[in-house]
Amino acid sequence: MIAYVGIGANLGDARANVRDALARLDAYPGCRLHAASGCWRTAPIDSSGDDYINAVAAVDTGLDAHALLAALMDIEQAHGRERPYRNAPRTLDLDLLLVGDAVVDTPTLTVPHPRMHERAFVLAPLLEIAPDIAIPGRGRAADFLPGVAGQAIARLD
Ligand code: ADP
Ligand code: MG
Repeated sequence: MIAYVGIGANLGDARANVRDALARLDAYPGCRLHAASGCWRTAPIDSSGDDYINAVAAVDTGLDAHALLAALMDIEQAHGRERPYRNAPRTLDLDLLLVGDAVVDTPTLTVPHPRMHERAFVLAPLLEIAPDIAIPGRGRAADFLPGVAGQAIARLD
C-alpha cells in the first residue's frame, strides 16, 4: 500500500531537514520510500519567519494509518531533540495525507488530511509524483489546483 506524507520545515537548514525526513521514512521499520517530490518553497501564510520548504513522500508500507501517524511523530520528535532550546519553532512537520484509499476519522487522526486540497504546498509536490491521484471523498487532486493558484510557490532546483 502507498501512503503519502506531507513534509514541511522552516527552521535551520530546512532543505536538509526535509532530506533527513525522507531518509528516516525510508529507514523506518515497515516503511520504504517509494518516491519523493522535489523541494518547493512557500512564504509562511499565517506566521512570520523564514520561508517553508515543502515536499511530499510516497511511502510503501504495510502499517495502518494510526501506526503511520505514530511513525511520523517519532521522526518529528527525533528532530525536536536536535533543537535543544525551549519553545523552539518546529524544524519538521510531517502530515499524513493519504493512506491508500483509506478513510479515517478519529479524534487524533483524519485521513485524507482535511486541508490537503486547500494547500498549494501539498498539491504541487503531490501531483509531481502522483499526477493522477484521487483524494477519497473529494475526487482528483489535480482538480483542486486552480483553487490554490493564488498561493505563491516555487520549485527549487
Ligand atoms: P498542523 O495541522 O499544522 O500539521 P500539527 O502538526 O501540530 O498541526 O498537528 C498535529 C496533530 O494533528 C496531531 O496531534 C495529530 O493527532 C493530528 N492529526 C489529525 N489528522 C492528522 C493527519 N492526517 N496527519 C497528521 N496529524 C494529524
Ligand atoms: Mg502536522
